[in-house]
Amino acid sequence: MRPEVELACPTCGDGLRVPLAGEALAADCRRCGERAMLVGPGGTGARSTCAACGAQALWIQRDFNRAVGLGVVAIAALLAVPTKGISLGVAALVDLALYRFLPRITVCYACDAIHRGVPVNSEHAAYDHHVEDGFKEAKSKRQVAIQAWRSARRGDRSPRSSA
Ligand SMILES: [Zn+2]
Ligand SMILES: [Zn+2]
Repeated sequence: MRPEVELACPTCGDGLRVPLAGEALAADCRRCGERAMLVGPGGTGARSTCAACGAQALWIQRDFNRAVGLGVVAIAALLAVPTKGISLGVAALVDLALYRFLPRITVCYACDAIHRGVPVNSEHAAYDHHVEDGFKEAKSKRQVAIQAWRSARRGDRSPRSSA
């Protein structure tokens, strides 16, 4: 897949996707209209810094789609009686196989941005909550700012301009 970053809009918190291979390294938020700029660098190489915020604290995980995993289990549960439970074993194998072949993503401890479609940097490891603890305060400040934006928006009852 094309390299891209998925991040939360700094103004309203909505999810945004910005291509890493593009020239602009920016995207306009569909919800609030603000332009979110990546600090970069872009490109298709392994990350040493977060493209969204520049932090050097990054971790690796499989790009697991929880909905797909649960769907497999749900179908297996429905088939458990007619197949005398064999479907449950098959589901476990399918989930294992899905997991094994899932692409790996690079996640930022500081801003939770997700880098997809780039190779894994061998210096990065799995999630470590001790590392994330160091970013807790900054993260909660950002959440407070986003909540303030959202409640200000809700309170704004003036008619929208048709721009
Ligand atoms: Zn926004
Ligand atoms: Zn970041």
